[in-house]
Amino acid sequence: MNGPFVPKLVYFEPQALDYPLGRELKEKFEQMGIEIRYTTSHNQVRDLPGENDFQKYRMAKSTLVVGVRKTLKFDTSKPSAEYAIPFATGCMGHCHYCYLQTTMGSKPYVRTYVNVEEILEAADRYIAERAPEITRFEAACTSDIVGLDHLTHTLKRAIEHFGKTELGRLRFVTKFHHVDHLLDAEHNGHTRFRFSINADYVIKNFEPGTSPLAERIKAAGKVARAGYPLGFIVAPIYLYDGWEEGYRHMFERLDAELPMDARADVTFEFIQHRFTKPAKKVILKNYPKTKLELDESARRVKWGKYGIHKYIYQKDQEEELKQRLEEYMREFFPHAKYEYFT
Ligand code: SF4
Repeated sequence: MNGPFVPKLVYFEPQALDYPLGRELKEKFEQMGIEIRYTTSHNQVRDLPGENDFQKYRMAKSTLVVGVRKTLKFDTSKPSAEYAIPFATGCMGHCHYCYLQTTMGSKPYVRTYVNVEEILEAADRYIAERAPEITRFEAACTSDIVGLDHLTHTLKRAIEHFGKTELGRLRFVTKFHHVDHLLDAEHNGHTRFRFSINADYVIKNFEPGTSPLAERIKAAGKVARAGYPLGFIVAPIYLYDGWEEGYRHMFERLDAELPMDARADVTFEFIQHRFTKPAKKVILKNYPKTKLELDESARRVKWGKYGIHKYIYQKDQEEELKQRLEEYMREFFPHAKYEYFT
């Protein structure tokens, strides 16, 4: 996907129009000529166009619900942040292995919350509780917030808010390159801007509806030049014929793009491909033609939370992936911070 996300259908919860952002979005979508419907609750967004589950799923991912976030109690988001900050849920992307497929179940539409100031006030209370410790908020736990932000500018507002707090920090990760409106935000170094990257082969085959690698890397260069602390999540690391070269090439391109002075404060996280049995089932339902390798017998079992086990790579494969990726990172970015491999 190269153009930024444009919903095919937009629902408004009536209370959303009590907020300036809600009214602004209504006007914007009217001008864009997008069909607007009203719903008293997002749970009623049932009669989406489409003849079968497959079509409805696709339509849902192109549907935006503009609503008000009622619970201002934040989930925890260990280990990379203390809290998940809820600005949006759902995503317009179609990554075959996306965990939202299991967590969002039958409601895969994209939701954005317009009571941004209330959400930020709640964040301030969490910050005050932990003072004098730093409190980190992750904004991409339940969506790809950057993919939506060109419409709402919520993230920009949040970046500037955290830029002013002494003890609050913001972080998020994205697979989209539509970052231009965020470049002049007064972030004050308090937001870590992370990109999810992968070998070209993996993005092309398994991440439809997101930005190509070359665009993500270009966007990372812009973000670095705008002075943001930067990070990369290489995920999911996937074994395929030619993976060594594919991942090496990814690092070479990053090396060619990133300015020298951004490299002292860049982080890398590495996550190998994994799946669970319930996830495999929904993947095959939503993306029946996927080439994604999901053979339990080729994998090793790792016990996960809630008693659901995960299938990860065999020990020797895992070691090879881990060593190789770390080696590339050290070769091209000797000053980067290696966060973890999992
Ligand atoms: Fe899921 Fe992220 Fe892909 Fe969106 S971009 S579908 S959140 S993996």
